Amino acid sequence: MSSAPISWQVTAQVGEARAGILKTRRSTIETPVFMPVGTQGTVKGVRFEPLEDELDARIILGNTYHLWLRPGQEVIRDCGGLHRFIGWDRSILTDSGGFQVWSLTDLRKLNEDGVEFRSHVDGSLKFLSPEVSMEIQAALDSEIVMVFDECPPGKASKEFAKESLELTARWALRSRVRFDELQISNVDNQSAIGNRQSAIPLSGKQALFGIVQGASYLDLRKESLERTVEIGFDGYALGGLSVGEEKNVMYEVIENIAPLMPKDKPRYLMGVGTPEDLIESAARGIDMFDCVMPTRNGRTGQAFTSRGKLNIKNARYARDTRPLDENCYCSVCKRHTRAFLRHLYMTGEMLASILLTHHNLACFLDTMRGVRQAIRSGYFQKFRQEYIERLKSGVD
Ligand SMILES: [Zn+2]
Repeated sequence: MSSAPISWQVTAQVGEARAGILKTRRSTIETPVFMPVGTQGTVKGVRFEPLEDELDARIILGNTYHLWLRPGQEVIRDCGGLHRFIGWDRSILTDSGGFQVWSLTDLRKLNEDGVEFRSHVDGSLKFLSPEVSMEIQAALDSEIVMVFDECPPGKASKEFAKESLELTARWALRSRVRFDELQISNVDNQSAIGNRQSAIPLSGKQALFGIVQGASYLDLRKESLERTVEIGFDGYALGGLSVGEEKNVMYEVIENIAPLMPKDKPRYLMGVGTPEDLIESAARGIDMFDCVMPTRNGRTGQAFTSRGKLNIKNARYARDTRPLDENCYCSVCKRHTRAFLRHLYMTGEMLASILLTHHNLACFLDTMRGVRQAIRSGYFQKFRQEYIERLKSGVD
């Protein structure tokens, strides 16, 4: 392999909070970073121009499960990979598809090989395994690939969580092996998805992240971490958090486990959370985040502001000529009033979702910009304290 697929370096640290630079073949990403979620190859409701220019997102997330079912990895591969297919030149992280199998489908049949389930799209029988997930993610040609893991519910029993982490460790190794085969040029791979051509050579362009499971049990989390590090990955994720457990449980896991994760590799907290969660987790040593909240909540009329959440449906905003957030720099806040946004929402105009989503992403991405600046300048603790206090003051 000519060079490493990604590089990451710490540039400043305050306590456990780290600021760093993550470089992929497609973009330079300052961390801690929030990655907008592009489920179907689109960050719902946002054109790529503002996502790149005004919002300056450097990396987005693509969902393997959804893209696999529709349009299918063959279509995407034949269109030149996910970047060309969707028209996004910057970095993409793809998840393994596992989380959607656990959360969106029923009639699952889980065994050592993988998981059989019915597609939520057309009811057809599908099979996902570490090998299949690596092959789909190779066809998608993302910069960062996630191992295929089992995600137990947040309140799983210890016995269940233990078995699940054992399986996840075995699947992590199988993911690693198949991933490495796919990264070597000109290997004639017999694909597990039954299509020889879907195993395309990648010449070491992709990075692979391992996932630490173990629910809320610290000893299991430590064991999972050790076993994941033993295999060796380009980055490490904490999975299975924010899946129904109490918030203080999540913080406790992060606080105890993040400092034990390799210091020279990026740490990714999957599927979390609110701006407050991002700051509190960055303070505990997390570098990467993704969450559907800014986009999903935007579509249901909820705006995140520097003073907490605002529900645009509320009648008190009918004549409110202030922007969503007086502390927000975004183009929606510069131009539009709460009154107009409420009117758009109440009349079912699609622009309501578009504008609220744009503002919410600005809020999340700007918060992370503030976190990075504060870590670099050494006043992160003050920033954190003031941010949380302002949130608690509430929207007026
Ligand atoms: Zn705004």
